[in-house]
Amino acid sequence: MKVSAVLSRGTAPSELVDAELDEPRSDEVIVRIEAVGVCHTDLVTRQRLGERPAVLGHEGCGTVAHLGSAVEGLAVGDRVVISFASCGGCAKCRAGLPGYCAWATALNGAGRRLDGSPTVRVKGEPVFGAFFGQSSFATAALADARSCVRVGDVPPAVVAPLGCGFLTGAGAVLNVLRPRPGDRLLVVGAGGVGSAAALTALSEGVEVLVAEPVAARRTLPEQCGATVFASLDEPMPPVTHVLDTTGRPEAIVRALGLLQPCGALALVGLGPAEVTLDARSLMLRGLRIHGCVEGDADPPVLVPELIRRYRDGSLPLDRLVTTYPLAELDRAVADHRAGLTTKPVLLPDGRPT
Ligand SMILES: [Zn+2]
Ligand SMILES: [Zn+2]
Repeated sequence: MKVSAVLSRGTAPSELVDAELDEPRSDEVIVRIEAVGVCHTDLVTRQRLGERPAVLGHEGCGTVAHLGSAVEGLAVGDRVVISFASCGGCAKCRAGLPGYCAWATALNGAGRRLDGSPTVRVKGEPVFGAFFGQSSFATAALADARSCVRVGDVPPAVVAPLGCGFLTGAGAVLNVLRPRPGDRLLVVGAGGVGSAAALTALSEGVEVLVAEPVAARRTLPEQCGATVFASLDEPMPPVTHVLDTTGRPEAIVRALGLLQPCGALALVGLGPAEVTLDARSLMLRGLRIHGCVEGDADPPVLVPELIRRYRDGSLPLDRLVTTYPLAELDRAVADHRAGLTTKPVLLPDGRPT
């Protein structure tokens, strides 16, 4: 199938090019992309790949256009959010924790299918594709049917980030930290992940503090009821829970110091591998530290729940999103780096032929 796709290559400007999607296998679908979020992992991966040409994008939302022969539970025309890929058969997948799938790395970051076959070609040559089982910076994406969650009649630009960023923030609150009314949660960093986490905790009736250096990103959490800080160095009350979205060692250490005894910290930001922690203090204060991938979420369970909260008005995810034409990925990234946006989402401005 011919599509338009955003081709990234090192530091060169991205370009919208004609590309060819492989035919769907029996368990795959082709989704006509209506919106696709830009997530930090897209940028990290672009850097990691160097000069290797790639079609990235892993927060796709659109309508199912073609079904593989064995796909059940999806129909042509269904609107779906495409989440990360997982095998469905390993112990963690069967336990409802597909973020820890035994095949997660190969399925989401190898650039091709597990059997080595490419999913996207440009001018006849395979490029890095199958990113998070989708590569959705394009007018259509080839995805594993298992990764697709039906979402019904909702705005694609609002729900697309439920495939990764919003899922991660909300899941870290609802599945991992589980604060209750009366608890006090500190969210470090108010990008797409942190802001979704803050809004989710507020929707649970939890007191929320947000530490975020960019003033524009503090506005919405503050309007929704959070107490905001420009830095962790400002005086703030002790907290029962912390969600770190930055991965910055100094932020993690500082945030641990703010925890009350028996408090919990969840890590969702990928930073340097090594952080120096005071093990004695952790032990004596009964603190818990949780690593957390994709919010420990099972997308078919959590995505519909978050959409229910969006629809009833308790989770105003639409207010986090800024949209750009598909071809303007680089401008979306530059604006985000300049602190002008919380969650950039691309809208394909053309149709696959
Ligand atoms: Zn698995
Ligand atoms: Zn992501």
